[in-house]
Amino acid sequence: MLTIYNTLTRKKEDFVPINPNEVRMYVCGPTVYDYFHIGNARSFIMSDVLRRYLEYKGFNVKYIMNLTDIDDKIIKKANEEKISAKQVAEKYTAAFFEDLEKLKVRRASIHPKATEHIHEIIDFIEQLEKNGFAYNVNGNVFYDVAKFNEYGKLSGKKLDELDAGARVDVNEEKKNPLDFSLWKKAKEGEPFWDSPWGKGRPGWHIECSAMSCKHLGETFDIHAGGNDLIFPHHENEIAQSEAANKKKFVNYWIHFGFLNINNEKMSKSLGNFFTARDVLKLYSAESIRLLFSQTHYRGPLEFNDELLESAKRGLEKFDNLIDKLSLLPNPLPKGEGISPNFDFQSYYKNFEAAMDDDLNTPQAVAVLFDFVRDVNKTIAENENLPPEFYLNVKEFLSKTAQGVLGIIDLEKSDIQGGSIEKELIELLIHLRNDARKEKNFALSDKIRDGLNELGIELKDSKDGTTYKRAKK
Ligand code: AMP
Ligand code: ZN
Repeated sequence: MLTIYNTLTRKKEDFVPINPNEVRMYVCGPTVYDYFHIGNARSFIMSDVLRRYLEYKGFNVKYIMNLTDIDDKIIKKANEEKISAKQVAEKYTAAFFEDLEKLKVRRASIHPKATEHIHEIIDFIEQLEKNGFAYNVNGNVFYDVAKFNEYGKLSGKKLDELDAGARVDVNEEKKNPLDFSLWKKAKEGEPFWDSPWGKGRPGWHIECSAMSCKHLGETFDIHAGGNDLIFPHHENEIAQSEAANKKKFVNYWIHFGFLNINNEKMSKSLGNFFTARDVLKLYSAESIRLLFSQTHYRGPLEFNDELLESAKRGLEKFDNLIDKLSLLPNPLPKGEGISPNFDFQSYYKNFEAAMDDDLNTPQAVAVLFDFVRDVNKTIAENENLPPEFYLNVKEFLSKTAQGVLGIIDLEKSDIQGGSIEKELIELLIHLRNDARKEKNFALSDKIRDGLNELGIELKDSKDGTTYKRAKK
């Protein structure tokens, strides 16, 4: 049974979805005004691991991650770059998907955009008005926090404490400093949509309430995001959705810890950030994902080169085993060899026990390292292993290390990233291409034939040169 720590109840709970075989889950996505940093990547990767594990357990997962494609930051960037807000959003949406793919994060079932749900957002605000939770001042519509008795239930904050803390936020139009924008009146030169309150655009919080309701229904199973979203964003989503629908909004709230640099949260505003695409120039997605998996999702994760290097070294253990598997004849001969005493089921059991315990990925990774060590030992001790043994090894790694954690890629190439071998081959391919450009075919052939002799086959196509280990 999967257990999950629920921020709402502050307890680890058994996970029971509303419909037996289906999980509906929503994760707050990025505001597309820039490349995302490796701190944001932690939230995307851990959500991906959660989704993959739910699928591993046989659930059909409907996974929604929104894109905030209209917002103050986007408008500011558009003014700086002298392009439209739409162009900014399009550029960074494309970059977002590119970077996700490089990180081996699978796309959500749907990535709804705020600007494509203006109609639903307006309907939602109208419902809040009708139920007495919203007020309009001059074309700016606010949520009336004092009307929602349970405000603060997610973050555990009390309204009166919050009141005192929020006084710095002076806005003459609000009844209470904690009230937040549902609809923002357009200022001169800003993008806008027509609405019952005049020209304007939606606030940030309302887009998640409206889009989750549209795609997942009024009550759904899991809502996740980074710790920084608990208050006010998720608190406000609850206030909106429960006031509009008069139903419980979400059963399980999951929050990811911060990725830190020198014990400080990585953030755009502090300037202590690395974009995911820059980190990916130096390290493979697998190294990054292993580093992330080695820390529990709720705890802080310290990020630096040394830790990445050590994750990269950890991966070599997997790579060495995968190399051994790839050296086997293809297809494997049938039915020969002596079956070793190797209990695959116990490794599945231990892996699942770790993941079922509130996604204890560090423990799950430890199980995988034990598995690799024990397989290597078995290979060393048994000369004549049956093909089934190797197939079972591959299947286990494919389901767990690759399928759930995404820390290896059995299909990518027989030679895995992270080893010096791969880098040397790529360097030689590069040199060969230079030689070909200079029409030095004697040298380019020498490089190809030399690699061939080492068992590395090159394949040229219009997209460039790829390589694989020649099958025996
Ligand atoms: P943003 O684009 O800032 O709205 O953030 C997108 C996602 O990344 C949200 O779920 C944030 O909570 C999360 N996030 C932002 N900074 C960090 C960080 N340093 N560590 C972990 N998650 C973060
Ligand atoms: Zn959200």
